[in-house]
Amino acid sequence: MLDLKSINDLGRHVHPIQEQLSMAIQRVLSSGWFVLGPEVGAFEREFADYCGVPHCVSVANGTDALELALRALDIGPGKTVLTVANAGMYSTIAILAVGATPLYAEVRPDTLLIDAAEVERILASRRVDALIVTHLYGLMADTQRLVEVARKYAVPVIEDCAQAHGAAQDGRRAGSWGDIACFSFYPTKNLGALGDGGAVVTAQSPLADKVRQFRQYGWSGKYHAELPGGRNSRLDEMQAAVLRVMLPQLDQWNSRRREIAARYSNGIAHPKIIVPSIHDASNVAHLYVIRTSERDRLKQHLAEVGIPSDVHYPIPDFAQVACRHVSADVELPVTARACGEVLTLPCFPELTDAEVDLIIGRINAW
Ligand SMILES: *Cc1c(COP(=O)(O)O)cnc(C)c1O
Repeated sequence: MLDLKSINDLGRHVHPIQEQLSMAIQRVLSSGWFVLGPEVGAFEREFADYCGVPHCVSVANGTDALELALRALDIGPGKTVLTVANAGMYSTIAILAVGATPLYAEVRPDTLLIDAAEVERILASRRVDALIVTHLYGLMADTQRLVEVARKYAVPVIEDCAQAHGAAQDGRRAGSWGDIACFSFYPTKNLGALGDGGAVVTAQSPLADKVRQFRQYGWSGKYHAELPGGRNSRLDEMQAAVLRVMLPQLDQWNSRRREIAARYSNGIAHPKIIVPSIHDASNVAHLYVIRTSERDRLKQHLAEVGIPSDVHYPIPDFAQVACRHVSADVELPVTARACGEVLTLPCFPELTDAEVDLIIGRINAW
């Protein structure tokens, strides 16, 4: 039997660094400074360096990061944003929050990531005001090609890196390719705080400046509200201090995730199951997602022996109840089919080889 309550075990994840975390939290407590202070400033510099981008502006969560990035690009009512519909609604929520309209591109049948050929076809045929590239499950999209296509049509690119902290293509990290990029530090992400958190990174200082204003009421200076659309969306000192303890561990955690994903893919051999096949630096294995047309039956087969699994994500954005008014007759067969077939297996750095092998064994016996 496996002693796992869900596909993540955050207790096991933070246990080895508990002492360091306590010290970081203690440091904030004694400082008496809790919002937008020295820890936030230091984390922003460290995370920008890590991503290989000049500017990082931390915010309250990943969805806010997307929303404020859109606002910084002047995306609002009357504007259209191209994205995918199989990535859990986050980008759609941000697009709707700024009053713009989502438009959905089909995903590739092999990786379930945005299809660059589809993007090119859409950009050639109609006006689009921004493109959100989601690096789903920890795997980077065809970023270079997508950025080139978008540039050709003068469409700004937002990378959604909430599942891809540290992933790299051609030695360049996720978040350093587009005009602006968004991260979430939700506890289960590859770099996760002990609560909510998020960040925007960019090489363009005017965009960074705007996000910095938006996150604090649109202020140009204290109590001077300059930018309409301002919000309160800040990372607090406690979470920044915690993230500073975790960031130096990220590469190590990512390589262990990658190792687990490769072990699953090498071990799982079943005629009804498709496994992920990319296990290089471009994949930080945020989620290990397999596919089968009998997903619910496999989920049940695993649950019978206490193996947790999950579905990322069961409903395409355009079919969500909250979207009926904006995307009534979208037809994306690859996306729709994937939502019925995907199944996420446990994958976090502290999962042992023995546990992975036990899960593989149960799957192969299905
Ligand atoms: C988690 C996630 C977000 C949203 O982050 P929150 O911090 O939960 O708001 C956005 N995009 C993707 C792809 C995510 O996985």
